[in-house]
Amino acid sequence: MAVQQRQLKKAVLWEPAKGGKVDCFLCNWRCRIADGKVGHCAVRKNIDGVLYSLVYDRVCAASDDPIEKKPLFHFLPGTRSFSISTPGCNFRCGFCQNWQISQSAVDHDRIEGQPYSPRQIVGAAVESGCRSIAYTYTEPTIFMELCEETGRLARERGLANVFVSNGYMTKEAIDFASPWLDAIDIDLKAFTEDYYRKLCKAHLEPVLESIRYIARNTDIWMELTTLIIPGQNDSDDELKRLAGFIAREASPDVPWHVSRFFPTYEMTDTPPTPAATLARALEIGHAAGLRYVYVGNLPGSDGESTHCWQCGELLIERIGYSIRLNAIKDSTCPACGARIAGVGLG
Ligand code: SF4
Repeated sequence: MAVQQRQLKKAVLWEPAKGGKVDCFLCNWRCRIADGKVGHCAVRKNIDGVLYSLVYDRVCAASDDPIEKKPLFHFLPGTRSFSISTPGCNFRCGFCQNWQISQSAVDHDRIEGQPYSPRQIVGAAVESGCRSIAYTYTEPTIFMELCEETGRLARERGLANVFVSNGYMTKEAIDFASPWLDAIDIDLKAFTEDYYRKLCKAHLEPVLESIRYIARNTDIWMELTTLIIPGQNDSDDELKRLAGFIAREASPDVPWHVSRFFPTYEMTDTPPTPAATLARALEIGHAAGLRYVYVGNLPGSDGESTHCWQCGELLIERIGYSIRLNAIKDSTCPACGARIAGVGLG
């Protein structure tokens, strides 16, 4: 997309610091930014002691997706979500599937995308019959200004709002989004600091803290996704510790998606995840007490459908992103009456 004169937007969640610097507390990098410089994400800039977003209305991707693609399996299943993003990210994942838009501001010092106002986004979502707006493809935290204005308008029009996030936002950012954010899928990418440091150039603990905080302090519906990369995060020990963390510190009702890796970006030499590894992760998740564990990026696998955690009844049958059957009534299993966690399940 062509680069046009960009609209600068005064940023949210920052404060002035000494010497004309500013402190941004939108994400856990908590950058202190000197005048004329940008933060770690490369899309928030200190101009004369005021922090601005460089990507406020720069939408670089917009698509009408199934909500299952986010993935969110227990939130308005079978509906469509109007999905948008702006350029930039606060992570540097070597396996990013959207690296052309997530890393462009960093790699090439350029902000691309077309002006698209909150009103236009909400209008397009309503017109296309979507039930929600998804802030996705890149990291929504760093385009929070657009998310907030769009999210509030969306709520007025009866639409929900969902984030697909790396979970690196601060508690302040979660509190800021809570009034209008309905659901979130967080990538819990691995369970070692070493993995986060080497492959994402980030840290694990802030992500765990976001998951705990959302589970215990908000009404936001949460699901978690782990991309399983051969040789990097696929050991039994790591998967057991990760699944145990979800069950213990979030909830056994939080759905966990174990997703298949395909070679991409800086990791083209790593092979795709074997189906057997995903089946093993599925077993480990169930053994840890998680009620809903799903296999992703492997259409036709047994691990795509929802079964009752109590009696095993097939409740939602999925093939890829399509739903063949949804037997849930009033959020309960028709066979045994067990409560099935989620929002708008049927
Ligand atoms: S959003 Fe995060 S990376 Fe970007 S300037 Fe703020 S603290 Fe730094």
